[in-house]
Amino acid sequence: MVFTVLWVVILGAIIVFYTKFCKRIPILMYHRIATVPGERNSLPPEKFKEQLDYLQQHGYNPITLIDLYKHYSHQVPLPPKPVILTFDDGYEDNYLTALPLLRERNMRATVFPIANWVGKENKWENFNHQLTRTMNWNQLKAWRAAGMEIGSHTLEHPFLTQCDETRLDKEFRDSKAILQENLGSTIEFLCYPYGFFDDKTIHAARKNGYKGALAIYDNAPLWRQDLFALPRIPIPSKQPLWEFALKVSRFHIVFILLRKLERSGKRLFCKF
Ligand SMILES: [Zn+2]
Repeated sequence: MVFTVLWVVILGAIIVFYTKFCKRIPILMYHRIATVPGERNSLPPEKFKEQLDYLQQHGYNPITLIDLYKHYSHQVPLPPKPVILTFDDGYEDNYLTALPLLRERNMRATVFPIANWVGKENKWENFNHQLTRTMNWNQLKAWRAAGMEIGSHTLEHPFLTQCDETRLDKEFRDSKAILQENLGSTIEFLCYPYGFFDDKTIHAARKNGYKGALAIYDNAPLWRQDLFALPRIPIPSKQPLWEFALKVSRFHIVFILLRKLERSGKRLFCKF
């Protein structure tokens, strides 16, 4: 009993300390905004709308990655309750469905197209996904003209930790060049496919002129934040609103701790 109380007090103290001093900005990860049964990464439009309404009603301000960079690097102030909305792969439904919902609410977001897969079917991976199209160049230009941000999701969407230095350079350098040439604006951020990265990946991203990169962690760091391995928060298709509220809140640490506990539990369970 004494131990339980002690643990609750310690955990409470950590949460209070963390929420007061760690100014982590939630970076949400979306893929498709569409109703696709059985696909964890496709969020139905009505759920996306519900989440945007929640953000608006609770005073959250979606910012872009360049805002985040300026804040971390040059101490440029941010609006209250900042949050970042990101879309991987650049699906056409981001333009057709998500963009109007974002514009209605005057919200900003970042999309990461795969440079060699712009305006094509999503055949870069064979995971039995339902086929769909990605945004074409005109749609990407309209996305940017609406005040949204665009970053690179590499040339071909490879597993970066399996690439040698030459391939990493090619993926990062050429995707940046193709996107810049077709869109007429600077590409400053990178999103690692599948979220996978290591020291070599970070080095190559820096070397090829990016200002930062987005990752996915199995075990998200609670405190340290590297601009070239920014942790993201996945928003799955069945995301309940209460959990979404927790994910964007100052009490996000509870979510990270729950994930760490869940993963440790699974590892322990797998041993038996
Ligand atoms: Zn991807």
